[in-house]
This record gives sequence, C-alpha cells and structure tokens, in this order.
Amino acid sequence: MESAVIETYGCTLNQADSDMIEGLLTNAGISVDRGLYSGKKNTDYVIVNTCTVKKPTEQRILDRLEKINGKGSKLIVTGCMASANADKIRAAAPEASIISISNIPEMLPKMLANGVNGDMLAYKRTDRSQFIYNPKGVIARIPISDGCLSSCSFCETKFARGPLNSFSEELVLKAVSNAVHNGAKEIELASQDTGAYGADKKTDIAQLVSKAVMTDGNFKVRIGMLNPEHLHKYIDRLIECYKSDKVYKFLHIPVQSGSDSVLKEMKRKYSADDFRAYVKEIRSKVPGISIATDMIVGYPTETEEDFSASINLLKETRPAITNVSKFWERPNATAKKSGRLSNEIIKGRSVMMARLAKSIQYEDLHHSIGTAERVCITESNSKSNIGRDIFYRNIAVNGNEELGSSIKVRIIGNSSVCLIAERCD
Ligand code: SF4
Repeated sequence: MESAVIETYGCTLNQADSDMIEGLLTNAGISVDRGLYSGKKNTDYVIVNTCTVKKPTEQRILDRLEKINGKGSKLIVTGCMASANADKIRAAAPEASIISISNIPEMLPKMLANGVNGDMLAYKRTDRSQFIYNPKGVIARIPISDGCLSSCSFCETKFARGPLNSFSEELVLKAVSNAVHNGAKEIELASQDTGAYGADKKTDIAQLVSKAVMTDGNFKVRIGMLNPEHLHKYIDRLIECYKSDKVYKFLHIPVQSGSDSVLKEMKRKYSADDFRAYVKEIRSKVPGISIATDMIVGYPTETEEDFSASINLLKETRPAITNVSKFWERPNATAKKSGRLSNEIIKGRSVMMARLAKSIQYEDLHHSIGTAERVCITESNSKSNIGRDIFYRNIAVNGNEELGSSIKVRIIGNSSVCLIAERCD
C-alpha cells in the first residue's frame, strides 16, 4: 500500500481542506499520516497545504519545502501559497507539483492514477462541499465557502482564494448530518469569512445555522470567523441561532483596529463604534457569549493615537480572546505601498497589546473559579483532556475521559487561555 503524509498550515478552512485531501488519498487506497513529514523512507507522497497570511509562516513553509524537495517522495504543494505565491514555491522546491486547492478534488485522483507531474494553478470555481471528508472523530471541520466579498488592504488570502464562492447549502447540511451520524460532537463551519456566506446563493450564515441545528443528534456548531461588516444584514436572526443549545455561544469577529482612520486604510467597512454596538447588543441578548477578535498592530499608517484607540477599544469591550498580530507587508496586498513602521515600534506595540489581551483573558476566566460547567471532551491524551463548555471555553480536565463524552466539572483554576477543572459528577 502506498503511503502519504499531509502537512497542514493555517486556518480551520485549510485544516478542512486537508481532511478532504485525506479522503481523496484514502479513496485511492493510500495510507495517510497527518502532521509533520519526518523524512521517513518509502513515503510515496508528501502533500504540503500552505498558508500565506503571515511572512514568518511563509518563510517556515519555504524552509520545509526546500528540505523535502528531491528526497524521493513525490511533493505536492497546495493551499493559499500555491495560488498566490507559486513562484516562491517553485524556487524552494523545483521538483514539486503545485496544485491550487480549487483543482485538488478533480486533479489529485487523476494525478495519483496517472503519475503526479506538472502544475495545476488555474482558478476553478468548485463546490467542494461534495468532497467534504471527516475522518471519524469528535470534531468535524466543514468548509462552507471559498473567498469573500472584501478587499482588505493587508490581506494576501484574497489573492489565493479569489471572489466569494459559497458552497451549496443542501450539500453542507448533508455533510453536517453525515458528520453527526459518524460521531462528531463539534461541527466547525469554516471559511475565510462566514459572514459573507451565501451572498452569491440567496442564503446566509444565520439561515445555514438555523437549518443545521435541525439535524438530529447531540452536537454543537461553532461558527467560524465572521467579518463584522456583514453583521447588520442578519444580526437578529443570528442571535436567534445562539438561543439553540446546539450552537456554541462563541462569535469570532475580527475588528483589526480601534481607529476609524486605520480601518478606512485597511478597507474594512465598519467603524470602531459599529463593533462596540455589535458587541453590546450580542452580549445583552446572548448572556455570557464569548466574543473573540483579532487585532493588527503596526499598520503602516497607524499613529500613536490610532494605537491608543485600539488599546481603549479592547479595554472597553474586553473580548474573551484577542489574537494580536504584527502587520506584515504581503506580496500582492495593497498595504505594502503605504511603507512600513520600524520593527521597534511594531514590536513595542504588539508586546503592549498582547500583555493587555492576556490580562483581560485571565481576569475574565478567573471569575469562573468555583462554578460548575458541563463540558464535552474534544481532545484527549493519557494524562489530560480538553473539554469545551457552551461558551466554547477551553477547559483542561485531569484524568482519562472518553473523547466525545459529556461530563460535569468544577472550575478550580485558570490561566489566560484556559480553565482548569476537576470532574464533579
Ligand atoms: S475578509 Fe478581508 S481579511 Fe478576510 S479573507 Fe477577505 S479580504 Fe482577507
């Protein structure tokens, strides 16, 4: 039996795409390992699913490709770099086949059957929901669309994934039902921007989720990253969805900056006040909901005042999770034309904001000590387990619990990223 390794970088959508690739390889009778390729002899194929969001990640991937290239395994490179920066891949791995993710469903089986040669980079509008594959497991990652409706000036992904391509609602719902039938307890709806989902198909994320929770079974849906610019279109119906106990009370809305002038430069179509209002309304109607957000610090036009506005926005809205990123100029993204602040300024600001975010998260979680929660165990190893409560909070529980089991725990401690608990049922 032939063997393959899939190395995956990047977001939940990329992870879901690697699940799809695993399905295609498995259907072709090839045994699959996920994780980092160890250089193991007799590995027939190494598939690297790339990410292009940040420069350090891109460099790490290029270093890997250089290492893997020409070592005897057939190297296939896909993911966002394959579509946005194929030249860099070519330079690092001359022997690799580069295939854009939209071509994978059709081309990979053919290449496996007829010998893997050449590239396939042309953009192809494929509905990949028919190729969704969920290796038996507690967590099912369901891709719902490719691309988005925005053109954020810092974003390279836009050049990789192209315009919005929402997958069929019917097939996505079928994939949800199959996954639940196969034992999934957590359904992660994944895309670049779930907020744009369906704008090209007369549906939207609120409608999709309201139908998904009709599926029989004991599971919870996690709604993926949602650009706040779309919320006004369906916020009432989305809030209705959160009333179901089959939806994690968790919403990831990347704000990126607290300064309206920086948001304008970033081509983000909402204001800091819009974000404040959304957070306030959603919290008032979905008590306890975990709001996650992203912040970019050191955007080329960001002044000290702009940075203070971002800091103040975090202090006011106190997100449960803030992913702080430094600004990186990207090859195709328009922001690179705006110059660059010094590394010193960017570093200083990201350290300061990361420290603030961490203290907000720690204080927020600390309030839960002594409370009891019901959690679903979604990750487990011999020593400890990670469970998720209805607010999608990370809860570490000692002992050896069964994956997918639902247990009652008492919170006995916390860090800035997770709660620590002991079983109490
Ligand atoms: S919404 Fe903006 S940041 Fe997100 S993928 Fe689209 S262009 Fe990039």
